[in-house]
Amino acid sequence: MSKFLSQRHSTLKAYVPGEQPADMQYIKLNTNESPYPPPHSVISSVTADEIEKLRLYPNPDGTMLIKKIAENYGIHPENIIIGNGSDELLAFAFLAFCDAERSVAFPDITYGFYPVYAELYGIPYEQIPLRDDFSVDISDYIDAGRNIVLANPNAPTGIALTLSEIELIAQSNPEYIVLIDEAYIDFGAQSAIPLTQEYDNLIVLHTYSKSRSMAGARMAYAIGSAPLIEDMNTMKYSFNPYNVNRLTQTMSLAALNEEAYFNEKRREIIETRQYTVSQLKELGFTMTDSKANFIFARHPKFSGASLYMQLKEKGILVRQWNKPRISDYIRVTIGTPAQMDAFLNTISEILEGK
Ligand SMILES: *Cc1c(COP(=O)(O)O)cnc(C)c1O
Repeated sequence: MSKFLSQRHSTLKAYVPGEQPADMQYIKLNTNESPYPPPHSVISSVTADEIEKLRLYPNPDGTMLIKKIAENYGIHPENIIIGNGSDELLAFAFLAFCDAERSVAFPDITYGFYPVYAELYGIPYEQIPLRDDFSVDISDYIDAGRNIVLANPNAPTGIALTLSEIELIAQSNPEYIVLIDEAYIDFGAQSAIPLTQEYDNLIVLHTYSKSRSMAGARMAYAIGSAPLIEDMNTMKYSFNPYNVNRLTQTMSLAALNEEAYFNEKRREIIETRQYTVSQLKELGFTMTDSKANFIFARHPKFSGASLYMQLKEKGILVRQWNKPRISDYIRVTIGTPAQMDAFLNTISEILEGK
């Protein structure tokens, strides 16, 4: 810390992302990226002509991209804003809708960025404990009297809420925002996007980072009522109008014409998840019912830290948190079938004490 750091931020604890090793010798199952490349048309969309155009600023509104997203969902462009990853859209939402008088609630175990943003922006927040089985008790969020942020499926548990549960939460909090972070929605849960047509307090976030194989491009969008999106745009235009760069807009548009590839890859990941879950069960692991591209697993004989360390020594990176309630668990991203077989073989060796 320098002597210049403002008093306001002197106690801020930044979010710690999963490791991104530069040497890449690891089988990387730690940050929920897709093991598959983006579809070919995304790659070929980056032409020399597009690169020459880098001298120009990108379209700040992302007009073409938003038009296409709107068509896909049968909604209006004014219901959509694009962002430099959903992390940025979360920041716009926290800035636009929360302050000292309008606080926010989210589960005690969820995406680690939510408390970081609340701290950064000086927003009071309540971390509502999940049940012992890590499910959300939705009665905690009925008439909550504050803004609500829920990841669905949740991270790092993978447990999903039903649409009717989300509807009850949105319905019972008409004076507050209900933000549903659907980073993992394409791996088996039901999207709340249709509900945004009915509930003017509901915002749904989607990212290209997981199911669209484009974590490195930094692209996400939020969907909600026109006034909510307008408020988020006020934040965006007060912070960074050109937030989504030109190449990312080009590639993201190309990606939307590849629904067959997208559906094939997410189906493969779901199948590989089911396979991995059944194999881990045979090895004595217990797991949450994950509807995401990762599993959250513990073994009765090993701590999470021990599994994490031993896997790392053997060239496999997973994620583990030294936090109460979840320190016995490892979170394992679903890779290709070959990667998961390597993971399962390594786990077997560890269990045998090899
Ligand atoms: C990965 C993740 C994000 C971040 O997504 P980006 O679009 O890459 O910023 C947001 N929310 C949850 C729950 C995530 O797991």
